Amino acid sequence: MTWPFQIYGTYHRRNDIHKLYKGQQQSGISTPTNCPGIFIFTGNGANRAGYQDVFQKDGRLRYTGQGQTGDMKMIAGNKAIRDHVKNSKDLLLFQQTCRTGIVRFKGLFICAGWDCEIQKDAQGNLRKAIVFTLIPQDYVSKKVKSLTIQAPDQTPLHTLREKAFKAVAVPELKSKHTPGTVFSRSKAIRDYILARAEGKCEHCQRPAPFLTVQGYPYLEAHHILRLTDGGPDHPKSIIALCPNCHREAHFGNQQELLKNKFLGIVSVLEQNLGHLRFND
Ligand SMILES: [Zn+2]
Ligand SMILES: [Zn+2]
Repeated sequence: MTWPFQIYGTYHRRNDIHKLYKGQQQSGISTPTNCPGIFIFTGNGANRAGYQDVFQKDGRLRYTGQGQTGDMKMIAGNKAIRDHVKNSKDLLLFQQTCRTGIVRFKGLFICAGWDCEIQKDAQGNLRKAIVFTLIPQDYVSKKVKSLTIQAPDQTPLHTLREKAFKAVAVPELKSKHTPGTVFSRSKAIRDYILARAEGKCEHCQRPAPFLTVQGYPYLEAHHILRLTDGGPDHPKSIIALCPNCHREAHFGNQQELLKNKFLGIVSVLEQNLGHLRFND
């Protein structure tokens, strides 16, 4: 199951988004409850007056958070963006078009970090604004896939686990140009999950069907709670699957059943490995 939005497709915000998923209809950041996604809106809209969102040449977006007047605070929609990975929520970006109420889908994004910048608020007063660095999820997934996977026997599992759990936190960026954090975050979690699987599908327990060119057992990382795979994730909601089990998880008729089974498997695995404590 995936989101019903095509990249660059146009949608009626109220009918195509909020009728299906609920959430605040007027806000630039919409956070429906019981929904695996957060909807964020950029550009031209009346609700974004005074906000300065800037697309960089490389597809990254500097996205200004929420708060009409005064200094912005890390609450509500801003907090939801910062914690979207930890909370297993996809971040869906829509851009206002010149037609009222019609938005264009720009794809799934990942919050790489945030920093503060002085901007004018709705009344023209200078204030501290929270600005997020958002990276297209596709870009992160491709980049991470092209990285060499850590050999399972090179680094002890507990070291990989520690790295993966530490990687979950979204950093306050010291520099505006550190999208690399998001790749290393993603890689740390991937390395750990594949090492945890010890060459077998964590669901059916069959050995990986083949070795990769680097000589490692081929398994796929599946996100149990989100609708899509890709980008950095929380180690407690990722399972390593053989290609068969993975296809079934996305296209089979027992998806709910499998989801609960996967959560059970991962929870037991993590409990058994839990002799190391982390602040996650
Ligand atoms: Zn399997
Ligand atoms: Zn998957």
